[in-house]
Amino acid sequence: MSEILVVGSLAYDSIETPSGKVERALGGSANYFSLAASLFSKVRVVGVVGEDYDQNHYDLLHARGVDLAGLSRVEGKTFHWAGSYEGDLNEAKTLKTELNVFEHFNPNLPEHFKDSSFVFLANIAPELQLQVLEQVKEPKFVGMDTMNFWISIKKDKLIEVLKKVNLVLINEGEAKMLTGAENAISAAPMITEMGPDAVVIKRGEYGFALYTKAEGFFILPAMPIPKVIDPTGAGDTFAGGFFGYLAAQKTIPTISSLKHACIMGSIMASHTIQDFSVTALSKVTMSDVEVRLAGYRKVIAL
Ligand code: AMP
Repeated sequence: MSEILVVGSLAYDSIETPSGKVERALGGSANYFSLAASLFSKVRVVGVVGEDYDQNHYDLLHARGVDLAGLSRVEGKTFHWAGSYEGDLNEAKTLKTELNVFEHFNPNLPEHFKDSSFVFLANIAPELQLQVLEQVKEPKFVGMDTMNFWISIKKDKLIEVLKKVNLVLINEGEAKMLTGAENAISAAPMITEMGPDAVVIKRGEYGFALYTKAEGFFILPAMPIPKVIDPTGAGDTFAGGFFGYLAAQKTIPTISSLKHACIMGSIMASHTIQDFSVTALSKVTMSDVEVRLAGYRKVIAL
């Protein structure tokens, strides 16, 4: 099994959905990613939190065997994101992004993180994604995510990161925003022209589209979930399931393992959306995954 290094946000989220609202609940791309990936593989986290970060929230990752040596705690407040969903649960409306301690974060990787084979640059400032990647000696497989916030204010830096990764995971709206394309199908090849060999476009309840330069499209629906409580973190959870699965394989990623990884990402994300924050995700066991996978196989079988 190979280790996965992830850099991303550790956050407190204030969220409103048609099912209710939460104030300053645990969130952040690195948290969702790590909780999902650690079910399959060893995870190392790089990030920063403030003095208000709760000990229980360290413990949650620690209990899953996540290596927190790259997580700094500094003076100030933890990253805070506020968002709401109205009508369309596939699209979050950002109400507030308070970078707080991330504003002056200068990641310095612990020595033993530098040999990581898998690297995931989760949603965070593109210059931080670059800074982390530059410190990893010989990564075998690098993936990244981003969001509209960074596309609108740091597009040039983001394009620099895109040139250095093997794969991009991005949601449909952001793929269209990044490329100017009208739909996911035309956006995907345009993204691979920017650098990566593969792209996964996440389409909320409609599933995902994997596109590789070598073999073109592989498209499937999501696991049908009748009641979505809070879709926040679904994308990061997808990425965690995806990378966790890939890093647990004995070979470097192939087209076939990328396809299976997408399915594992979907299965993990289908749990996250069933409650606010990381509540549902943090309880998921391997046997829950197997049960849902069996249900999903029926959905997609001929
Ligand atoms: P998603 O998987 O796309 O729903 O991601 C949701 C998570 O992204 C939330 O828990 C937020 O804390 C985090 N987030 C929101 N905006 C940003 C941002 N600009 N940079 C990094 N993380 C963010």
